[in-house]
Amino acid sequence: MNWEGPFQLRDLLENSTTENYPWPPADKGVYLVSLESWDTAPTKACIPLYAGGNTGKSDRFCTRIEDLVADMVGFYDGGTGHHSGGQKLWEYCNKHVVKPLDLFLGWDADITCPRCDEIELYEALKPELNQKRPPQCSEHQG
Ligand SMILES: [Zn+2]
Repeated sequence: MNWEGPFQLRDLLENSTTENYPWPPADKGVYLVSLESWDTAPTKACIPLYAGGNTGKSDRFCTRIEDLVADMVGFYDGGTGHHSGGQKLWEYCNKHVVKPLDLFLGWDADITCPRCDEIELYEALKPELNQKRPPQCSEHQG
């Protein structure tokens, strides 16, 4: 795995138009939201909160991050949310008096299989807000 970030969400959004600033790729990635930063790869010390990825073969990694960010800062109401993990993060932030933009987001796009890597990430970190293991990969053992 080869992680990009983590970025404090505030900094990532602040730099959305900054040339050459890292940005989530279109497809094939896994991401992690954590309470604390990390060095080269996330460990349990960063207090992992939520991990996810884009399932299937769609080019929806970057737009899944968009859904995540929109919901984790509370842009959902009336059952219109797009991302259950984002909503859990919003609830977490309210409960623990944490500002969503203070959380850290990193991603790894250097992966072989999005599903297998998501499972591996989940097993390694058991993020607090992931209630269950990602479904088994349909192409590989796991
Ligand atoms: Zn797989």
